[in-house]
Amino acid sequence: MKMLGVLFVIWILLSIGCFGYSGKIHYVRQAYSPINPEMVIPVYVDKDFGAADLVSIAEAVDQWNYVLNGYLVLRMGDRLDEMEIVSKVVNGGIGVVKIKSLDLDKFDAKLLDHEIEIDGKKVPVYTLGFADRVGGHMIYLVRDRLGNKDVKPIVMHELGHVMGSDHVGHGLMTPLYSGEWECVDKISMEQVARYWKIPEWRLNWCYKGDDPLN
Ligand SMILES: [Zn+2]
Repeated sequence: MKMLGVLFVIWILLSIGCFGYSGKIHYVRQAYSPINPEMVIPVYVDKDFGAADLVSIAEAVDQWNYVLNGYLVLRMGDRLDEMEIVSKVVNGGIGVVKIKSLDLDKFDAKLLDHEIEIDGKKVPVYTLGFADRVGGHMIYLVRDRLGNKDVKPIVMHELGHVMGSDHVGHGLMTPLYSGEWECVDKISMEQVARYWKIPEWRLNWCYKGDDPLN
């Protein structure tokens, strides 16, 4: 399977300082748009995930549902094995599959450990998760590289990809994970809104500091 450049990686250098503001996160609250039943997208989860991971995945789905505000609804579907999920998403939907780091070479050489140069320094990068493509159907989590607390933010990021966002901005859809993917920021929401041709001023997004709508 061909993987596009939707891998994300851990950026060891980014541990302090880049986002100096540490205020609480809030979401805007737009008027809710009722559900169009045709716009429900099932999310099939690998039955190899444990109960705690299932909760984390459901929480990531809930945040996107809040952002999508009823225009699209992600709905937790059956728990299946990888083959069943792959055959299900042919007809639409999203699959979340658990893999090991040793499995990465079955996918794409770009997902293997490598180095990138940032400000003249070589930085090692490791794939923690990836999606099949922007606007795709499959999310893979490299579970043996993730702490329990990483599952939710990484699923949120990969959901952004399969829902239509490329890497963008400095929030959820930045390619380098530093433990700071907390919520769906405006530029990430806008990518998905444009992909689905949803009016972006009707969707929600998170912010820090003062409410941007007041
Ligand atoms: Zn990514």
